[in-house]
Amino acid sequence: MKAKFTPALIVVDMQYDFVHGSLAVPDASAIIQPVNSLLACPFAIKIASKDFHPPDHISFARTHNKPVFSKINIHPPRYHEGRALEQVLWPVHCVANTPGADFVEGLSHQAINTTVLKGQDPGIEMYSAFRDPWHLAETALPAALQRHGVTDVFIVGLAGDYCVMSTALDAVDFGYKTWVVKDAVKSVHDGEEWDEMERKGIRLVDSQEVKKLLSY
Ligand SMILES: [Zn+2]
Repeated sequence: MKAKFTPALIVVDMQYDFVHGSLAVPDASAIIQPVNSLLACPFAIKIASKDFHPPDHISFARTHNKPVFSKINIHPPRYHEGRALEQVLWPVHCVANTPGADFVEGLSHQAINTTVLKGQDPGIEMYSAFRDPWHLAETALPAALQRHGVTDVFIVGLAGDYCVMSTALDAVDFGYKTWVVKDAVKSVHDGEEWDEMERKGIRLVDSQEVKKLLSY
């Protein structure tokens, strides 16, 4: 008997600021076409995440009057337990309800069934599309996957070494068979994220292999 296979596509942060704007990931526009080709495939559900920050977000260098790409330690919000985490301070990006937070032009966004927002709390950075790093709150993603009886998640988008990797690691934690589609991902600094994901049991594939898997 064939094992149950209910695949979801998760399109991470394919937004203007990460492709052309203030925090553009190198060569990011090259993945619009492969992401679109996957959005045309018969996934049980296609979900996009959007980074969606208030103007004074904790991850912005401007908020702390510090140089961009410098690092600080951040702590959980008041009354919560949790370890300090190192935070890279980014240029202002993906401010809610501004053009920088829109889906990048050319993305087949009409094929997306559900969009989940992240990073809306001014005091909490959220790389993963599932939840914050201290596991205090979840986005709408875990419930959407559960509602559709998803077994396998296929992750694409930006950036490979931050939000894609964090989303993939959480997908494993939530019990999903997790795939990252390498030719539909770009990283800020291409490097050790691939090995780290493989070590955690994440399967690295290319979009042609995904299309074969979906033509079951
Ligand atoms: Zn952000």
